[in-house]
Formats: sequence, C-alpha cells, structure tokens
Amino acid sequence: MTVATFMPTFSPQELVHIQLRGLQWTVNHAYQNSSFYRKRMEEHGVKPEQIKSLDDIRRLPFTTADDLQKNYPFPLRAVPFEKIVRIHASSGTTGKRKILAYTQKDIDDWAIMFARCFEMAGLTKTDRVQIAVGYGLWTAGVGFQLGCERFGAMAVPVGPSSSEIHCQMLVDLQTTVFCSTASMALLMAEEIERRGLREKIALKKIIFGAERHSRRMRQRVQELTGAEHLFDIPGMTELYGPGTGLECMAHEGIHYWADFYILEILDPNTLEPVPPGEIGEMVVTTLRKEAAPLIRYRTRDLTRLIPEPCKCGNPFPRHDHILGRSDDMFTFRAVNIYPGQIEHVLSRIEGVGSEYQIHLYHREDGRDVMVIKVERAPNRRVEGDGELAEMIAQAIRRNILVRANVEIVDYGSLPRTDRKSKRVFDHRNLDNGN
Ligand code: ZN
Repeated sequence: MTVATFMPTFSPQELVHIQLRGLQWTVNHAYQNSSFYRKRMEEHGVKPEQIKSLDDIRRLPFTTADDLQKNYPFPLRAVPFEKIVRIHASSGTTGKRKILAYTQKDIDDWAIMFARCFEMAGLTKTDRVQIAVGYGLWTAGVGFQLGCERFGAMAVPVGPSSSEIHCQMLVDLQTTVFCSTASMALLMAEEIERRGLREKIALKKIIFGAERHSRRMRQRVQELTGAEHLFDIPGMTELYGPGTGLECMAHEGIHYWADFYILEILDPNTLEPVPPGEIGEMVVTTLRKEAAPLIRYRTRDLTRLIPEPCKCGNPFPRHDHILGRSDDMFTFRAVNIYPGQIEHVLSRIEGVGSEYQIHLYHREDGRDVMVIKVERAPNRRVEGDGELAEMIAQAIRRNILVRANVEIVDYGSLPRTDRKSKRVFDHRNLDNGN
C-alpha cells in the first residue's frame, strides 16, 4: 500500500527562504487588515517593508494572552467575517476564554500539519485512531479528527468518555492508536490492567499531549498497555491547536512544522534569545495564518531547541518537550527553578512513581523550605523509603543546587486528573499572612 506523504522536503536554505517569505506576508497582511496589529506596529514604529531578513523579526512587538482577552471575542482578526468559517476557544481557566477564528485555508493548513503528525508516528490507512480528547469549543478532538481523516486512517471519535466505553472500543474495534491527555493515558493504562485487557487489545501507539508528563509516567503507560510507541504532541489554541509538531520515533524531542511558524526561544525576563539549547519561553510567529495571525506571541511555555540533527533523518527542527510554564517558574533561595527540572531529576531515579508535587513554605526563622512529595513506585516496599528520599534529595542538590526535603508517599495517593496536573504549591505568602 502506498502512503501519501504530507512531509515536504527542503534544504536549510530553502527553509530560511520559506520562513522569510511567510514572515513578510504575515506582517504585511496583519498591518493591512488587523486594526490591532496596525496600531501595535505604529506604536512600535515598525513598518512591513522593514522586514528584510529573518533577524528583523526582533523589530516586531510582542503579542500576549492579555491582548487576546482585551480584544475579546475576535482578537487579532485580519479577515472580514464572511471569510471566517469556524472559531475555537481555550478552556479559560484564568479570566475570559481566548477565542481564535479560522478561515477555510487555516483549517486546511491545520489538517495538513496534523496529517504530517500521523505520518511521523508511522501510521498507515489501516490504523484505527481512538480519539479520547474533548470535542466542542476546544481544539483537540476536532483537530485529531480532521488530521486523521485527511491522513486517511479510521477515526473512532469517542471523546473524553467513561473508561467503560473506551475499554469496549479498544477491545471491539481493535483500536491501534489512542489519543488523549497524558493523565488520561495513565488512567486508561491502569484501567486496562485492572480489567485484565492487555491480551485482548491491539494498541500499538499512544499520542498524548496537553500537559507535561514524566519519563516514569510514560514507562508505566507503556508497561501496562503494551504500546510500542508513545508520542508527545504539543498544541495550543492560539497556534491552530494540537498538530503543529510531534515527537518522532527516535523519541528525542519534538519536530515542529517550521514552514508554518517560526519558533523563538527567549529568556522570559529579558525577552532576548537564549543560547541554542538553553531553556526559555516559546514565542511563535505564524507564516500562513489568515484569520488570526500570530506575531511574536508569548506562549508562556518553557522549552529548549535541540540544535543537533535528529537520528530519524527528518529535516524539520526540534524542540524539547514542554518543560513547564514561565509563570510556574518559582524562585527558591534565589535560584530560578522550573518544575520540569525537578521532573527531569525524578525521572532518572529507580523506584519513583509517576506523580509528584512541590510544596514551598516559609519558616519562622525566615528560611524558605521546599518539600517534594513523590510517589513510591507500585512494586517497591515501604521499608526503602528513607533511602529513596535521601537519594532524591542528593540528586536535587547535585543537579539544581538547592536543598529539598523529600517525602515518599504511597503509589496512587497523589491526585490524578485528566486536566493539567498542578505541581507547584507555594504556601509562602499564605504563611506570611499576606
Ligand atoms: Zn526525529
């Protein structure tokens, strides 16, 4: 069977050319057609014709989530309403929802990007793709569906339903690919084990995203389900939705579709580029988006570029998994720490379960204290807790250069949700009575 390819080929020079052309088109389009962007560029004293090279992106002003909320419900709009065929919205956990509009071309571009993801994950048209993420205003369900149909595999659109229905579909339809959030994948893996379904299902691949997850958690999901590959899929409503890149079979980072957007990694405090390979905030600029183009949009997500070419041979550039939110970055005894750094340390220690929490307290003597609660791995005995806690504390001290008190808790005792799990609990202001 021949599989159509959605993966373009280009040299690094050709990619630079594609990006520059796209950047010039976007800046010009936004300036001409979006009152928001025109005003912002005028305030900043920059004109579209000043964008002559990719480095000129640094002349452009930033766009923030605040700008989207202030201009609710049609922020950044750069096309007349008759060209808008759909909207999607983020969940709006803080303040107003972010609503983003799409033209038919935006939807088609998104479908192509998503089809590329399924191609990168090595699917064929005979794969059966069970979609366990939410449909509706959220971009996830409909995005997976769109990409799956464009690619040509069979979509099984279950949505975030009960584990009963999911298990039934996994068995009856012999689903080969499961798409969900990371915590949902863990819940389902545990459900498959509890029901003894491992030998009755045909699951080969799991694509999951929407939240950070540890290496430990991936191993657990893989052990329980027997899936050969797990792929991390990043995505945000502002940038189409999920499908703008995918982890490849080499499992060393995420290839992103650099012919559709430019990714800058900036220091969240100075907004200057970090050296290649260092952690910073993802800032994105779209190259073809019509209805709501993004110009230097601050995502608040932290990651790093992986400058080396990938073992898998795919020419698209890579970034690391999302390592946290720049808002989650906390300062402990004058050290800036991202939760992803702690997760990274934990993932390299045997005997640690998949869940953890970071608690910060202010002691009466004026010192701050960090307590890390870590689940014991399911097969590990309580007697070894003291030793395990000491091993973790040492690894944290060695890698992050801070002291932490480690508390080992029972496997399954920390909350599992199918939403983004909260990891950092800062009690320091409460303790001060502020
Ligand atoms: Zn690769």
